[in-house]
Parts: sequence; structure tokens; C-alpha cells
Amino acid sequence: MAERRNGLPMKASLQIRVLLLTVAIFVVTAAGAFVAFDHLVNAVVMRLGTLFAEKQVQFDRYRGLETLFREASLAQTLARSPAIVSWAADEEDAGKKQRGIAELEHYRQTFEDHSYFFVIGRSGHYYFNDRDDSYDGHQLRYTVSPGNPRDGWYFKTVATSPDCQLNVDHDDNIRVTKVWVNCPVRRDGATIGVVGTGIDLTQFIREVVDLPQEGIDSMFVDHAGAIQAHRDPRMVDFHSLTKDAKSKKTIFRLVDHAEGRQEIAAMMKSVAENPDHVESRFVHVGGRWVLAGVGYLQQIGWFNVTLMDVDTLIDRQLFNPIGAFLVVALAVATLLITILFRQLVLVRLGRLEDSVRRVRQGDFDAAAIDSVDDEIGRLSESFADMARTVGENTRLLEDRVRERTEKLERLAHVDPLTEVFNRRGFIQAVEAERNRASRSGQTLGLLLIDIDHFKAVNDTSGHSAGDKELAELAHRLRAGLRSYDICARWGGDEFVALIAECSDETLGTIARNIAMQLSERPFVLDDAHELRVTISIGAALAVEGEPVVDTLGRVDAALYAAKGAGRNRVIVLDSR
Ligand code: GH3
Ligand code: MG
Repeated sequence: MAERRNGLPMKASLQIRVLLLTVAIFVVTAAGAFVAFDHLVNAVVMRLGTLFAEKQVQFDRYRGLETLFREASLAQTLARSPAIVSWAADEEDAGKKQRGIAELEHYRQTFEDHSYFFVIGRSGHYYFNDRDDSYDGHQLRYTVSPGNPRDGWYFKTVATSPDCQLNVDHDDNIRVTKVWVNCPVRRDGATIGVVGTGIDLTQFIREVVDLPQEGIDSMFVDHAGAIQAHRDPRMVDFHSLTKDAKSKKTIFRLVDHAEGRQEIAAMMKSVAENPDHVESRFVHVGGRWVLAGVGYLQQIGWFNVTLMDVDTLIDRQLFNPIGAFLVVALAVATLLITILFRQLVLVRLGRLEDSVRRVRQGDFDAAAIDSVDDEIGRLSESFADMARTVGENTRLLEDRVRERTEKLERLAHVDPLTEVFNRRGFIQAVEAERNRASRSGQTLGLLLIDIDHFKAVNDTSGHSAGDKELAELAHRLRAGLRSYDICARWGGDEFVALIAECSDETLGTIARNIAMQLSERPFVLDDAHELRVTISIGAALAVEGEPVVDTLGRVDAALYAAKGAGRNRVIVLDSR
């Protein structure tokens, strides 16, 4: 992964790594945020759903019961009305009857159903009128009798309680549910009649079950769970009492699992024991999780069950803007961090890296200084300082090397004692001169010079005296030649000179002049010691195209001849 170029980590790889890391952090954070957000949304939806379900059940219950209570209390007041009580006590009295009927008619206007009934105990006469005032003038409809099962309600009311009673009459055939409010009319502690009204709850029940709210299914079930009212008539279990349990259409058959059925049964039991409460739990219905709310309508003995599909009811998409905001905020934060990191670190590291590269290429003054006072700024400043120091040291070293090289070069070509060319320097210089001479058609002459009896100087005056003599001889030789002639120490006490532009005659003249200049003045070796020096010279002109070594061989022979002829003389080989 960490690709390297010239030993430096590549800028791009760090950038990509940072980007990948940021994206990874973003993904992990977003995933965590999503889980938390989903959890939160679920919790909110459940809480809201539960509240809604319970309130809905509560609301439906009171909507129905309110009418019931109001009617019961009106009927109670009617039962205590003096006109009614005194008529019940004395049915045949025309005045009392008139006032009694008037009182009943007066209450009929107020009753929800605009109907009333009144049974006078002693006669068993049943008076009745309805909302259309159908029985005006002949309200006496029939006479109740203990032998008629349909009149059972009357005798039961009289026998059981001094309070009003509610009697529910579900007429399956016409799908009408009517609740009768039966209030005993009492005098001196004895029940002398029953008065009341009927309330048609069909409308209320329809309103509850036909609630147009999508995702909510409301129904009424009896104690056995048989569905008594539902928006879909096919769901309603008619003739509940006459059926065996298996074929009943019950709330339990809607619920998917046994646990769910137990939950519903438990809730029904709980609200039946405590009718003021409503309960709600999640159960599986038709493969979906729904919230079941259960309330109990004690007065009619039914349970109001609401099945709520929370997801349909509470649109989760409502939370989307918050989710979208979270994602955008997270993305913007990530982007800003990436840009900031790029500006604060990567770009500056890139500049530093460029400086390092330029310094590596030898541009020591190119290290740019990052003036921000932080780690990278200080690093770049230190690096620039270091680069400058390295630059100065490098220049110093280069100068030293150049000097040394020049010195070595000189040592390689110059004889240190006499400071004239040595053999190598001479050959190199002669090559150049020969090329120049052959181009200009000039003739070159060569002299080989050897000190006579030099060994004796060494032997008698010492080696350093010999050295001095050699140095002085070289000095004089140099002075005796023209500027464009070349001389060198050939080795030992032997010197060589290349004479440019010469003929046999001029070569001999130059050689003799040199010999004369060397021998006419004595050499001063030290204050007390002077020395007369003679030399022998062999000389020859270089033949066109002849190698220097060959010419030298010929000149050496001439020198040898000069030595043999008694020394202190010049022998020039005739070139013709
Ligand atoms: P000849 O007349 O035949 O030339 O006699 P010579 O004594 O000069 O004999 P030769 O030329 O053979 O002797 C050269 C001597 O030079 C031998 C050596 O000891 C001496 N010599 C060579 N190089 C140096 C040097 O650098 N310094 C000193 N002092 N002596 C040197
Ligand atoms: Mg010699």
C-alpha cells in the first residue's frame, strides 16, 4: 500500500488513504446513526401508536356511554317526578293521568330516542309513545303479564334493584342494538311502576366501526370474543348465543398466534375487571404487527377492540427529513474535514515534499519555508536550515575537491623538485605541439640534456646539494628557452626540451647557447659552496610522422655520443 518513489512516500497514497479512512468513518457513523435513528423512530411510533390506540378506545367508549348516562339520569329524574309517582299510585284519576301523560310527553322531547314507556305496577298497563307521536291519545299499548317471556325484563327490574337498569337488546335480524333504560318508580319504599326510554346504539356503533381512518379496524366483541359489530358485515357473528364455539366468528380467529390470542384474552379480562381502563398490546394479525387496544363497555357488556396498523397510521416518511438532514450534515462534516485536512496538512506536506525533491536534485536554496507556526511549519523551517547548511558544506567540499584534483593533476604532470614537466607531462605536451606543428608544417627539434659527473656531487656534497643543482639547472634551462619551447625532467639528472620552429642550424645554436648559459656561471649550492656544472646535449630534428619515442631514441644516441666524446659538448644529428 505504502508505495514509495525515490524513498519518499507518495503524496497520492496518503491522500487516498485519508479519503478512504474518512469515507469508512462516515459509513460506520452513518450506519450507527441509522440504527439509532431507526430505533428512535420505532420507539416514537410505538409510543404514539399506543397513546393513540388507548385514546381512541377511551374516546369511542365515552362517546357511547355519555348518551347512555344522560338518558339514564333523565329517566331517573322522570321516575322521581311527582306527577309520575302520584299517577302510578292512582292510575284511574283522570287529572293525575293527564298530568302524568303530560310529564311523559314532556320528557319524550328530551329523550334521545324521543320515545318513552311507562308500566304501572298495579294494572300492568304499558304506556308507550314514539318519536313520531304515533300513539297520541292512546298511549296505553298493552298489559304486561308474568306469563309472557317478552315481559321478563319488567318483572326482573321490579324484583332486583331500586336503581335504573340497562337492558341490552341486540336484534340480530335487523341489526339493531337497543339499550333500554328501566327506572323503577317508587313510593314508600315499594316499586309501583317502571318508566324509561330506549336508546338506539346502532348509530353509535356504526360510527365507531365505520371510522374512515385507514389502518384502524374497530369492532365490538362480546365476552366470548364473538364479533358483534364490524365494518364488514361478513365478520359479524350473528346469533352468537346459539352457535357452538368452533363456528363462531371471534376476535381470536383474526389473531395469528396462540400468544396473541392469550394477549387479547388477558386484556379483555383486565378491562372487564377494571372498566375505567383501556389496554393495548402488539399482536400479529394477518401477518402484520398491529396494536390492539381493548376497552370495556360495562353497560352493554361489549368490548370495544381497535386493531391499529401503526405503520399505516403514522407515516414513517414524516421522519425522512430528519434522516436526510442527518445524512447531509454528516456528509458536509466529512467533506469539510477532508478539505480542511487537505489544506492544513496534505497541501503543505506536498510543498515540503517538493522542497525535499529539489534539494535532492542539488537545489539547496529552493527549500520553501512554511511560515505557519505549527509542526509542519517548524519542520519545513528546520528542513530549509538543514538544506542551506548541507548546501554550504557541499560547495566547500566541491571547492576542496577541485583544488585537490588540480594539485593531483599538476603532480601527475609536473616534477615537484624542478617544477618543470615530468616525463608524462612532457609526452602529453609534445603530442599537442606535434599536432599543431604538423598542421602548420613546422619542424620540431628535440634536445636531451644530461649533467656531467652528477653522481660525484651527490657523493661529495650530499644528496640535497644534488637536488639544489637539479632545481637550478631546470630554472636556467627554462630561462634559456623561448616561451613556446617545452622542457621537462626526463629522469635522474637528465632533461629533455622540445624546440619549436627550428632547423639543424638553429637547433645546434639553441643547444650550444643552453650549454654555455649553464656552464658560464657557477651554481651556488650554499654560502660557502660554488660549483661549476657542465652538461652534454644530444639533439635531432623530429622526422615527419616519426613517433616521439623513436626521435628520443635517436637523440639519446647523440647524447651517448657526446658523453663518449668527452662530455661538455653538443652533438646534433644530421637530419639529411
Ligand atoms: P655521466 O657524466 O656519465 O652522466 O656521469 P654521472 O655521474 O652523471 O652518471 P649518471 O648520469 O649515470 O648518474 C646519475 C646520478 O644521479 C645517479 C643518481 O644517484 C643521481 N640522481 C638521480 N636522481 C637524483 C635526484 O633526484 N637527486 C639527487 N641528488 N641525485 C639524483
Ligand atoms: Mg649524468
